[in-house]
Amino acid sequence: MAINWFPGHMHKARKKIKEAMPDIDLVLEVLDARIPYSSENPLIDELRQNRPCIKILNKSDLADPIITKCWQEHFDQLPDVRALVLTSTQRGQVRKLPDLCRKLVPERTAGIKTIRTMIMGIPNVGKSTIINILAGKNIAKVGNEPAVTKRQQRIDLDNGIVLSDTPGFLWPKISDENSGYRLAISGAIKNTAIEFEDIALFAADYFLTNYPEQLISRYKLKQLPGSDMAMLEEIGRKRGGLRAGGKIDLHKASEVLLHDFRSGALGQISLETPKDIPLADEGNEDSNID
Ligand code: GDP
Repeated sequence: MAINWFPGHMHKARKKIKEAMPDIDLVLEVLDARIPYSSENPLIDELRQNRPCIKILNKSDLADPIITKCWQEHFDQLPDVRALVLTSTQRGQVRKLPDLCRKLVPERTAGIKTIRTMIMGIPNVGKSTIINILAGKNIAKVGNEPAVTKRQQRIDLDNGIVLSDTPGFLWPKISDENSGYRLAISGAIKNTAIEFEDIALFAADYFLTNYPEQLISRYKLKQLPGSDMAMLEEIGRKRGGLRAGGKIDLHKASEVLLHDFRSGALGQISLETPKDIPLADEGNEDSNID
C-alpha cells in the first residue's frame, strides 16, 4: 500500500510537548476505539513518563463493544493508566471526564490548585469534539477529514481543571502494514492519500472473516462471496457501481464499503484486538517516526 501523507512536524511536536510536560499533571490520550493500538502515538507514552494518563477509547459507538471491553481491560492493567470508553458526540458522557480527572490526581484536588491536563491524540480521533463540550463552547474546529485544524490552546474549565491542547500535530506511527491499512480504513488518513481499492479489499477481507453477518445484512446477500474482490463486485452490482457493458466500478464499490464502515451503517466493528499488538511492540514503544 502506498501511503503518501506523512507531513513531518513530528520533531517540532516532540520538542514542544517536552517543554510543556513539566506543567502537566494528567494526560488525556484520545484513541479511536476501533483501532486503539494503531491510533496510538508512541511520543505520548514516551513523554508523559509516569504521569497518570486516561486513555479515552472514543467513537465507541462505532466499535465492537465486546472488543472494546478487551481493550479497556488491557489498558487498565498498565501502570498509571485508566481507560475510559467514550462516545464524545454524546455530551453527557464527556461531562463525566472532569470527575475522573479529579479521581486520578487526588493530591491536587485536596488543595486549591488546579489540575493541569493535556489532551493528545492523532488527527480525527475526536479531540476537538471533546474540547468543545468540556469548554461549553465551540473553540476547536471539528472536522471529518483528518488534520483540518492547527490549534494551540489552554482552556480554563470552571471546575478547577485546565485543559491544554497538544502543541503540534501527532501523527500515528505506521508500525506495521496492518496498522497502515486500519488507519486508512478508519479515516485517520486523508482520502486523497490512500488507494481506495487497495484499502477496501483489505477491509472486505477482514469483514468477511470477522463480521460476515454485518455484510449479509447490509448488502442483503443470499450467500457470502468467496473472496474480497467478489465482495467488492457484489457491492458494486448492488449499489450503483454497474457500468455499461456490465463492467463494475470498483472505485465506487470501495467508496460505498468504506463509507458504510466509517458511518457505522455496517454495524459496530473493531479493526483490531489486543492480540493484534505486534510482539516487538509490547513494552517497547520507542520506534517512532521522527
Ligand atoms: P480531532 O481531529 O481529533 O480534533 O477530531 P474531531 O473532534 O474534529 O472529530 C473528527 C470527526 O469524528 C468529526 O466528524 C466528529 O464529529 C467525529 N466524532 C468525534 N467523536 C465521535 C464519536 O464519539 N462517535 C462518532 N461516531 N463520531 C465522532
